[in-house]
Amino acid sequence: MPSEHTGKVYLVGAGPGEADLLTVRAARCLAQAQVLVHDRLVDDSVLALAPRDCERVYAGKRKHVHAMSQQDLNGLLVARARAGRRVVRLKGGDCFVFGRGGEEVDALTAAGVAWEVIPGITAASGAAAALGLPLTHRDHAQALTFVTAHRRHGRLELDWSLLLRPGQTVVIYMGLSLLEDIVAGLLARGKPPATPFTVVSHATRPCQQSVSGRLDRVAALVREQRLTSPALLVMGPQPRAAAGAMAAVCNVREEYVLA
Ligand code: SAH
Repeated sequence: MPSEHTGKVYLVGAGPGEADLLTVRAARCLAQAQVLVHDRLVDDSVLALAPRDCERVYAGKRKHVHAMSQQDLNGLLVARARAGRRVVRLKGGDCFVFGRGGEEVDALTAAGVAWEVIPGITAASGAAAALGLPLTHRDHAQALTFVTAHRRHGRLELDWSLLLRPGQTVVIYMGLSLLEDIVAGLLARGKPPATPFTVVSHATRPCQQSVSGRLDRVAALVREQRLTSPALLVMGPQPRAAAGAMAAVCNVREEYVLA
């Protein structure tokens, strides 16, 4: 087991955007970092909370191009912790939601390195708040599904039967580039064309953009409005309330809401 003199790795969730959506614990931990290893999606305002003189390592990836392999990254975390450093491994959103946090804690545990996880607001929660769109609702959605979409050998890898279940909200991470295929797949399998569907990019950030409408119409508008990554796809059953009406009473901005 690690002694008190060995270092430790903190897997910290950076939340979906700016630093004011960090947990207080995450902000405190960042302020004490000696080594900071971060991903591409982490906002500059969050990175600015680490000491100026801490060692900074960029471990991001864009599409399939990794700045560093997962194996090298695990090796770096282990080496710095064994050298007695306080290492902060900072990831967008929450480390345990599509963040490979599981692989990293496995590697740290195998190496006998101490670790701790500090949760972050996952993109789905940030987006739901920013859109005024509840992810569960006693009258509409009694379950919530988070999935990620991948293409393998030219085919979409998705559990379609799971997505077709009624009475739930489905949030699809990393799905923007596959939007047309996902919509076509859902419609072909009998999902009602009028199912409420929202696409939101850069959720919670000042540059947030969103499009809400029917499943069968939303993709065209998303392309027209040129929404960019990172983006989430959120599928009903609850339609997004008319943003114009909400804007009068809350801080939700009006964007593209189709009838
Ligand atoms: N661990 C992260 C998810 C990492 S996977 C979390 O818990 O949020 C990366 C995907 O997250 C992106 O492709 C996008 O689908 C989603 N994402 C992250 N930040 C986002 C944001 N601000 N707005 C919309 N989607 C976001």
